Amino acid sequence: MTAIRQQNVTAAQWASNGGALDHVDLTKDENIVFGENVFNIATQRERLPEEVFAKLVGTLEHGEALDVDLADEVASAMKDWALQNGATHYTHVFQPLTNLTAEKHDSFFKPTGEGGTIATFKGSTLIQGEPDASSFPSGGIRATFEARGYTAWDPTSPAFLIDNPNGKLLCIPTAFASWSGEALDAKIPLLRSMDALSRSAIKALRLLGDDDAKRVTTSVGPEQEYFLIDEQYFYARPDLITTGRTLFGSEPAKGQELDDHYFGAIPERVLAYMMDLERELSKLGVPITTRHNEVAPAQYEIAPMFENSNIGSDHQQLTMQIMQNKARQYGLVCLLHEKPFAGINGSGKHNNWSMGTDSGHNLLDPGDTPSENLNFLFFCAAVIQAVNKHQGLLRAAVGNLGQDHRLGANEAPPAIISIFLGAELERVFETLAADDGGDPNTPDATLDLGAVALPPLPMDGGDRNRTSPFAFTGNRFEFRALGSSMSLAFTNTVLNAITAEAIDELADKLEALNSGDLAADVITVVKESYLANRQICFDGDGYSDEWQAEAKERGLKNLKTTVDALPEVISETTVDTFGKYNVLSERELEARYEVWIEQYAKGANIEAETASSIARTLIIPAALKHLVLIDSSGVGGLDSEVRPLTEDLIAKTKTLEEVNQYPEGLEEEGIEVAKYARDKQLTAMNEVRVIADKLERIVADEFWPLPKYVEMLFIK
Ligand code: ADP
Ligand code: MG
Repeated sequence: MTAIRQQNVTAAQWASNGGALDHVDLTKDENIVFGENVFNIATQRERLPEEVFAKLVGTLEHGEALDVDLADEVASAMKDWALQNGATHYTHVFQPLTNLTAEKHDSFFKPTGEGGTIATFKGSTLIQGEPDASSFPSGGIRATFEARGYTAWDPTSPAFLIDNPNGKLLCIPTAFASWSGEALDAKIPLLRSMDALSRSAIKALRLLGDDDAKRVTTSVGPEQEYFLIDEQYFYARPDLITTGRTLFGSEPAKGQELDDHYFGAIPERVLAYMMDLERELSKLGVPITTRHNEVAPAQYEIAPMFENSNIGSDHQQLTMQIMQNKARQYGLVCLLHEKPFAGINGSGKHNNWSMGTDSGHNLLDPGDTPSENLNFLFFCAAVIQAVNKHQGLLRAAVGNLGQDHRLGANEAPPAIISIFLGAELERVFETLAADDGGDPNTPDATLDLGAVALPPLPMDGGDRNRTSPFAFTGNRFEFRALGSSMSLAFTNTVLNAITAEAIDELADKLEALNSGDLAADVITVVKESYLANRQICFDGDGYSDEWQAEAKERGLKNLKTTVDALPEVISETTVDTFGKYNVLSERELEARYEVWIEQYAKGANIEAETASSIARTLIIPAALKHLVLIDSSGVGGLDSEVRPLTEDLIAKTKTLEEVNQYPEGLEEEGIEVAKYARDKQLTAMNEVRVIADKLERIVADEFWPLPKYVEMLFIK
């Protein structure tokens, strides 16, 4: 048996550690692990002096500024809790502009000078850290010699303990800023945007007659797609190791065409992994609720219950980290790349987003008669206006190298941002706009399934539309264009900031009208806004060519690649809105733009270098061996196939190697490097791949150096 076939047999062997997680009585409180590793409200209430706890809760609930004097007490309680749970170290976890979280561990223990050691953790240490974290991308905000960067405790996101087989680690969610106070991370702008949205929404609610709400909070519920493959294949593929995706690989005879994986029974090893993963996340207070097989073979989805944007975003980072850690315990590797396998569905992340008041109202809940729900109409119109105005920025917010294989390429969702309202809402808004006395309401309907035993089902007011990048789904908007590896922070920062602005614009109009008839005024404002922005609403097939043409006619943006989209981050419109709401200054936006451009160019360069190395050192030799086999056999008929392909592969590899040498002076050029990477390197890489994939189908299996799609995707 060839080496790789042997590997398959080993990969297929999986022994469960049956019952390792215990089969316990889950009706008993002591068996519920949720939040066990979190310094949550309950733990704080138990461990903090009453008045300290009360003040802290004030901060958490009302978005008030933190009283610094509290910090010592909180730090001391947190330290005792951590030590009692076996944590030796603490870390300020932050989210630099890498999409990942960063951590530097410090021990609680300091020598006493008498040969002993004592655990200390002061309030000042809790509140502020000064990691010498100067090597993170800062987009020019900070030169490497300006080492000072601060981490600042975010008391609104609870501290937690990470389990390691050899101990625990106390993690404190923090923000990360430069010496001059500029945001070097993803959390600061998100928090600023949440504040901005709350201010605008509360102001509008007052006009709308709501005197109760004190704060409006945005929520996020992410649906995360991912792949799991056996780790043996992962480590046998240099492309997966260095780039997270397969740079070579011919489509297998069986792919996803039978739709037999989607929502199928979850393979046993995978389900064992999921259960273990969810239990771990549960201890960390991440409320996972949903799991299922996704469309592609070896693809799955995990989704938590929605939480406020800040905590939801922190939890999503944690989820991605634990997903990857846990997989290894099951001999699997979790792939979060947007497109690990060409020709097979990629992985996205749906960002369910809504806004709600502290008095318990979801502002995007239409209720039974949306046409009479003034608040809903107002806030929904604001979202439509915001998305239309900032469609380019939203597109940019979901751009990265991996996403270029999905958005605007051959896969969902399209690069054109549009909104799907659904039939019921569309009817409401269109009737309002037409103003011709039509009935805006969709009559209640039930679905008769035609079998006596089955009860009639109440029908939703509208069907779903899978092809829409931004869809209304009942009581929230679902931004579906995120990539699976992405942090939620920036997209939600954008959603909050642009909606805050639109709310203010509509509120100003409402205030100006002031006719004494609030309902009539709201309808006037909503109608006017909808008429001006309805071009962004589209309920047809977002994947079709007709939509590309129609969108163009409507004047919608179609920014096909990340490189086309990123300049939107520093467009006049973005700078103006983000500046007005103190979410990100022009300099902070420029920093992000530069970092993202650079990440794209560097990522593409790494892919191109990896591809040329694999072609040179693995695939060409395999083709040559095969040629030798043919020659030595003395049998005709095969040589004419393999020889020209091999020659072509050699030529194309050399071309790739040439373009991998940047032309002189290019490196100083910012976006030009990214354009070069996209147009030259990725193109040359693809040309090598096309030939290599043809060879994969004819070269003797025993010579082929890389695990194939069929084994990576189907052996579970
Ligand atoms: P589907 O696949 O049908 O879209 P899922 O159950 O997989 O639904 O995921 C829906 C996500 O939307 C969950 O994370 C859920 O908590 C979240 N969600 C539900 N209601 C809201 C809301 N009002 N605001 C934000 N997210 C929400
Ligand atoms: Mg789903």
